[in-house]
Amino acid sequence: MHLDIEEKEKLEEDEVTDNDGFSKLGLRPEILKSLEKMGYKEPSPIQKETIPLIMEGKDIIGQAETGSGKTAACGIPIVHKVDVENIEIQALILVPTRELAVQYVEELSKISDKTGVRCFAIYGGFSMPVQLAKLRHGVHVLVGTPGRLIDHLYRGTLHLSSIKTFVIDEADEMLDMGFFKDVELLADCIIGEHQTLLFSATMPPPIKALSETYMTNPSHVVLNRSTVSPKSLKHCYIKSEEVDKTDQLIKLIQGANITQAIIFCKSRTRVMSLFEALKKRLKETDFLHGGLDQAIRNKVMEKFRAGKLKYLIATDLAGRGLDFSGISHVINYNVPENPEAYIHRTGRAARQGREGMAISFMSFRETEYLHNIQNRIKVNVNKFGSENSPVPKPSRKPHSSRRKNHYTRPGQFDRKQKRPHHRHPSNET
Ligand code: AMP
Repeated sequence: MHLDIEEKEKLEEDEVTDNDGFSKLGLRPEILKSLEKMGYKEPSPIQKETIPLIMEGKDIIGQAETGSGKTAACGIPIVHKVDVENIEIQALILVPTRELAVQYVEELSKISDKTGVRCFAIYGGFSMPVQLAKLRHGVHVLVGTPGRLIDHLYRGTLHLSSIKTFVIDEADEMLDMGFFKDVELLADCIIGEHQTLLFSATMPPPIKALSETYMTNPSHVVLNRSTVSPKSLKHCYIKSEEVDKTDQLIKLIQGANITQAIIFCKSRTRVMSLFEALKKRLKETDFLHGGLDQAIRNKVMEKFRAGKLKYLIATDLAGRGLDFSGISHVINYNVPENPEAYIHRTGRAARQGREGMAISFMSFRETEYLHNIQNRIKVNVNKFGSENSPVPKPSRKPHSSRRKNHYTRPGQFDRKQKRPHHRHPSNET
């Protein structure tokens, strides 16, 4: 049987709309095509729940699992609702970091491909003339970090009168980073009728208050707490004092089957000293922290995403919301004190149901943190290589031999002994 070109195209079109789980949501055909191109066959649970609500214009508070597909959950209906003929900003998406802004706009650009919807991100550290030119030319969906958006408001180069959808993403992170006043200022400047979508992993009182002030009868979308850490992610620990961690890390890396790993440290200084120690021994290694130029940060992220780097040594900057789909291992060189930070870090592996492993190097002092994390997020963190040896209860005092050889409190070290550089207290912060 021969089909002419028109019939073939028609069949291909029908295939998209027949097989695509998204078709039930009543989206524009161009968006369905983009989703198919992106490999999105079925909406994820959060997308199933939120897309219809957003299309109806409802306010939403979302407490969603990391890696749940929440970017597209907002991005798809936002793009769908844009009136392309109107060259004004119709959706504003606030994110805490530049990296998240870039990631968000990349996803939006893929979804909106061929729709004529113009998406753009503005953030500090990125060329002001380019941003001004883009804003003048016309943007429908704008993603931005609070500081730079407020800069534009004061310059009179940002107009929010046509906003129909306002998204506050990673609200708890913005609170932690001290952006809350900025978020409120921006919310105050959106005075036309609009819907507000607020995403936050936790709901501390200031965020609850924000939702009460700026939202109308919001629907709550809460994913089950037990799904916060993906089931396909294995958690384990290796006991190691600070002085031994680098050697043990190298041993681990040499023996493990790693596709890509992020190695998290607690400070920029620690990131740098670990990078210095590893760079000659491990090829395809780079580092990321907030002290780097934005252009370098973007380049490192691009290389890591493209699989050109195998190991990324980073601070918690790489822990929030960023999507690196190829990561098999997350390594905590330093255990975070805060369980939320642990969830965010380890959520970089085992994305979308893939297998992954989170390995924490746990010093005596960090036993308390990891024990607390184990209890709070209800995951089994076992000794590396064994099935049934969870993190032990921390004892109040260090073991006597450890105290002598490894464990020092500020001011407790033996002044006659030369102190290793990376144990200096200035490296601890
Ligand atoms: P997010 O939670 O938004 O960071 O998304 C996590 C990852 O899931 C990203 O790599 C998305 O591209 C991917 N993703 C989002 N929605 C879908 C979907 N419906 N089907 C397949 N992959 C998806």
